[in-house]
Amino acid sequence: MRPTILNPLFADVTALPGVGPKIAAFIGRAAGPRIVDLILTPPINMIDRSKRPKIEDAAFGELATFLVTVDRHDPPPKGRRLPYKVICSDETGFMTLVFFHARADYLKRALPEGEQRLVSGKLEEFSGGRQMVHPDYIADPSKPEEMPLHEPVYPLTAGLSAAVMRKAAAHALKRAPDLPEWQDGPWLQARKWSDWKSSLAAVHGPTSHEDLSLLAPARMRLAYDELLANQLALIMIRKARVKSKGHAIIGDGRLIAKAKAALPFELTNSQQHTLSEIFDDMRSPERMVRLVQGDVGSGKTIVAFLAMLAAIEAGAQAAFMAPTEILARQHLESLGALAQATGIRMEILTGRDKGAARLEKLQWLQDGDIDLLIGTHAIFQEGVEFKNLAIAIIDEQHRFGVHQRVSLTQKGARPDLLVMTATPIPRTLALTAYGDMDVSQITEKPPGRKPVDTRTIPLARLDEVIEGVRRAVSKGEQVYWVCPLVEESELIELTAAEDRFESLKEVLGDRVGLVHGRMTGPEKDAVMERFYDGDLSVLIATTVIEVGVNAPNATIMIIEHAERFGLAQLHQLRGRVGRSDKASSCLLLYKPPLGETAKARLNILRETEDGFLIAEEDLRLRGAGDLLGAAQSGFPRFRLADLSVHGELLAAARDDAKLIVERDPQLMSDRGEALRVLLYLFSRDDAVKLLSAG
Ligand code: ADP
Ligand code: MG
Repeated sequence: MRPTILNPLFADVTALPGVGPKIAAFIGRAAGPRIVDLILTPPINMIDRSKRPKIEDAAFGELATFLVTVDRHDPPPKGRRLPYKVICSDETGFMTLVFFHARADYLKRALPEGEQRLVSGKLEEFSGGRQMVHPDYIADPSKPEEMPLHEPVYPLTAGLSAAVMRKAAAHALKRAPDLPEWQDGPWLQARKWSDWKSSLAAVHGPTSHEDLSLLAPARMRLAYDELLANQLALIMIRKARVKSKGHAIIGDGRLIAKAKAALPFELTNSQQHTLSEIFDDMRSPERMVRLVQGDVGSGKTIVAFLAMLAAIEAGAQAAFMAPTEILARQHLESLGALAQATGIRMEILTGRDKGAARLEKLQWLQDGDIDLLIGTHAIFQEGVEFKNLAIAIIDEQHRFGVHQRVSLTQKGARPDLLVMTATPIPRTLALTAYGDMDVSQITEKPPGRKPVDTRTIPLARLDEVIEGVRRAVSKGEQVYWVCPLVEESELIELTAAEDRFESLKEVLGDRVGLVHGRMTGPEKDAVMERFYDGDLSVLIATTVIEVGVNAPNATIMIIEHAERFGLAQLHQLRGRVGRSDKASSCLLLYKPPLGETAKARLNILRETEDGFLIAEEDLRLRGAGDLLGAAQSGFPRFRLADLSVHGELLAAARDDAKLIVERDPQLMSDRGEALRVLLYLFSRDDAVKLLSAG
């Protein structure tokens, strides 16, 4: 149960004065539906009325506040739709205040003739004189508090005015209770940070540009709170997961020896090291929850296969889940020879299995006749029962997101879990999303790979590119051609791909194939098959080829409208070539003009093939928010923390969280109680629930 002290914050924003359902919907889009969302949404800018120039010295168009004497009112003649004017002055000159649709009685009261007033707004030039249209504020100089000198500016959405949002945020802040301190006392002192509520007030009430900085002490404190909640929750979840007993899997090494003997290559040191970490986990009676990170082409598949063999040696079953049908089939094919060499029984189960054939496979699975099941998420659907599933491996994790990871582990059996991703994730980000897992990294690539010659080329030179493709194809090379990503419409994306298909067919004849998302599974397979077999020279594709496809003979990757792709995605796509000892190249076709950031981003790709470096740079250029594309990333979006700046705080929060869980695993101490409040504040109810469950 959420502590009652937080209840006021978890009410709907409609509970705030002046916020009805319509405004609430706008606020919902800009910040979130609850009061706490407003509180946790910091201003992005500030209005500064502290400048107090004289009329004569003021710059036109700049926000300023003036102390003036009200000289005389100049109301429009009766019945004329002219503005109401009030003439004011200071010792340097005159200005006219201009009001449209004015109420005379109100203006008479607000601006009594002969008295002094503070007026704040933008001074403009108008037919040689100075005027201010509708001052933002008019205040009595003896009551300056009527006019705030600084006002926060919040993120807005269409339909929501800055003033309405500001008022709502101010009302929300008034509801912030005093909360018990969850940060460690000495740490707080060393950092010279103040308590939560004062920090909140400071962040929402900036009076200088330093106050708006992500490095301002108050902002740092709140960012740290957010990161601490994130890390504490992840560590608690991880602990609960590992504690749930797994099996100790102890194989005899016989199958692994056979497989290694059949391999046409030696494992790299990185692969061996990762495998030994995995085997250690499997041998332990605690449940394995491990992430293997390895750049494209680093050889994750064989690592997965050997890990599964260890489980099979021990008399259990293994499951290998891929994000797409194409990938699942490719794994089946590429592992076929090894499966044969080791004598295990490997099968595939995807959404395409139907009816009696499907039921038969399910029966084999239940009887333990299948040792290794490859498949798509169909593997984890209702009705799929293993006899003795000891290890589940998820390939290309970034395609699944966190939700699937959770649902998978909630399935009755509690297999060891290995998750593999090619997405190079900066360490800072990895901690926030995968902090609940152990991490192995495959840092080396198999020997003999040549760097991919990467170039950026304007789309205007398309003809030259096509001519280059024609030449390459005539020399027996294979080419991927990726068509532009169209966010808004799959249909437009498809049309673009089909157009390109037609135009290349004219040049290259029937050695061109097309795959796209609208094709049925078997149709896709058939095309991919022809490409693998060398029947096709050019494979035109929408991004379905993005992950994992392995056609070592392909040497050229062409990406149209490269500027529309994420860097990580481009890196993945480029990873499809350069998989053999042949020289390969990647052409990034872009539509000029490119902005500075877009240019810088494409240049990074030209300069390096190190996925981690690319990801770090991308993080620096774009911020964590859209590093991987929100929809597929599964990364938390922080509101107060910004990992491109607060990386150091994250590391500290991680250490802090570890210590907390070690010393007070049930969060029973005073600080523990306060930390529960923190978890609820950031809606990590999932973690707190683990506590009550014991
Ligand atoms: P990814 O990590 O992108 O999933 P794959 O597992 O598909 O990479 O491996 C890419 C290619 O490298 C495959 O053709 C695979 O057979 C080959 N490979 C894997 N490990 C090695 C190695 N140690 N030496 C040489 N080639 C290897
Ligand atoms: Mg792979």
